Amino acid sequence: MTTTDILIIGAGISGAVLAERYAAIGKKVLILEKRDHIGGNCFDYLDENNILVSKYGAHLFHTNHEEVWKYVNRFAHWYKWEHRVLAKVDGQLVPIPVNIKTVNQIFDLKISTEAEMEEWLEKNRIEFTNASNGEEAVLNKLGYELYEKMFKHYTKKQWDKYPEELDASVLERIPVRKNFDDRYFSDKYQALPGGGYTKMFERILSSPTIEVMLNTDYFDVKDEISGFTKLFYTGPIDRFFEFKHSLEDKLEYRSINFVKETVDREYFQENSVVNYPGLEVDFTRIIEYKHFGNQISERTTIVKEFTTDEGEPYYPVPNARNSEIYEKYREEAEQLKDVYFVGRLANYKYFNMDQAFKNALELFALLEGKISRRRWNSYGKEKARKI
Ligand code: UDP
Repeated sequence: MTTTDILIIGAGISGAVLAERYAAIGKKVLILEKRDHIGGNCFDYLDENNILVSKYGAHLFHTNHEEVWKYVNRFAHWYKWEHRVLAKVDGQLVPIPVNIKTVNQIFDLKISTEAEMEEWLEKNRIEFTNASNGEEAVLNKLGYELYEKMFKHYTKKQWDKYPEELDASVLERIPVRKNFDDRYFSDKYQALPGGGYTKMFERILSSPTIEVMLNTDYFDVKDEISGFTKLFYTGPIDRFFEFKHSLEDKLEYRSINFVKETVDREYFQENSVVNYPGLEVDFTRIIEYKHFGNQISERTTIVKEFTTDEGEPYYPVPNARNSEIYEKYREEAEQLKDVYFVGRLANYKYFNMDQAFKNALELFALLEGKISRRRWNSYGKEKARKI
């Protein structure tokens, strides 16, 4: 029998932050992690080409939350990194989010001012006052041609659903710019941790009162742990309840099959991420990791992302049907005393990294009487926001 004050399931962002916070007030913390590493989906490592690669896809940190920025700076030296993405459309590479350059390239135009861009958008958009799904959200901003070329098929490849089958919020993550700003995010702080995320997690978890047990599935050992006053669960919420509300209707998750290749030349593509929104290939994007932090190596590593519904759950699938099933689990979760559901999988929300940090920090603050329940509730209800 193992004893601990605080039991945490999962060593990703939410689990690590809660562990660090409780250790800081003198608690003994035990983290059980099913995989063979810490860091959850942020896990990165140096590969055979000496390039820092993220095992579960690129993780670009961005935030407007001062307290989150201050917190993460305690555990890493962050260097400024403004992420940019190119998309292959009609055989050429164009910037996404859509901005003036994107429209000029695709339609061979010479728009040069915000007013001209506004005029173009006004002419092309199809108005939906309250976009009720992803298709309406994109049509409302950009119109049919760009929807077809850049969003419809990418979304189908990513989710195995067309945009009309997804909440508007999914597609609204991508803004539309009326200027030449081609950055993927608009946040005040956009940065990457020097040395990588795994090193940062090692520092977050460095307290001697935190024990991490890797390769340990909570459901295999739960009867062997005692003494804890709080349990934080960061895994998929339906698994916790043994899928009891999913007999007919399963809560969906989307996974990614990462296909990694070494290419024997200095660079493969001109940018870290190139999206393929067309039907000519099955993958959604190619990541070339050496671009992040301008790493130097003779060869290069590229990773093609094919999404799938089998495998590690990475994404909740936001739509009305899944919300309804999730709601049943959430109600059940609320009945439990001293058990808390934290993070992307347990809240079934498309959180960005900073939201996961914020959520965990605020839950700790709430439980330790540092913020009111009203403030917590207003955050807990926050929808995954735009990037
Ligand atoms: N999306 C798209 N075309 C693109 C990029 C994104 O249609 O070139 C849509 C797609 O539905 C995607 C969503 O916008 O799932 C959100 O994109 P984001 O880059 O935020 O996804 P993530 O990086 O979290 O996979």
